[in-house]
Amino acid sequence: MSLQLPELPYAYDALAPAISSDTLHLHHGKHHKAYVEKANLLLAGTEFATLSLEDIVVRTATKRSSKTMAALFNNAAQAFNHGFYWRSMKPGGSTPSGQFASRIDKDFRGVDRFLTQFTEAATQVFGSGWTWLVLDRGKLRITSTANADTPLTRGHVPLLTCDVWEHAYYLDHQNRRPEYVQAFVNSLANWDFAAANLERAELKLAAE
Ligand code: MN
Repeated sequence: MSLQLPELPYAYDALAPAISSDTLHLHHGKHHKAYVEKANLLLAGTEFATLSLEDIVVRTATKRSSKTMAALFNNAAQAFNHGFYWRSMKPGGSTPSGQFASRIDKDFRGVDRFLTQFTEAATQVFGSGWTWLVLDRGKLRITSTANADTPLTRGHVPLLTCDVWEHAYYLDHQNRRPEYVQAFVNSLANWDFAAANLERAELKLAAE
């Protein structure tokens, strides 16, 4: 059993003009595909080969003093992060609503304040990385991770992510990352996906 490249949950041109079809073809069809293929090469014949992608990420994270394990972690984590990123967006985006909006309101003192903080965090990541909304010990938090790093290794539950590697926006926005992040927050972010992830995580915690 090997890792698979998931299909995009929308057409390649569905996120334009914020993210063009050219960017999605490269980002999904080349970058994400390469992470999956490299992870599969490194997984072959190892004790991790039968694990879920999430488990591969968590289990290899602590073994990164080995070069091969670091490479497996980086490629598996990027495979996970990208699959999660595609689902974090939808054509036209959404606004937090219902119970999820109340929860945002409680943990960030206002939905607008939350959206501003998320935008600032994503804009401020130095170099390549990711900005996330996560569930951390029962509380919603905004965090950023560098390179391939992912909240999975910190015991946080990822709820939504924005990829701020240059390959995510350079064709469409060149060096103007704030413009891409604004477009992500205003017209792409799928807060219904985040709300569903939160609900699932809390049901799981309640059952433990
Ligand atoms: Mn990327």
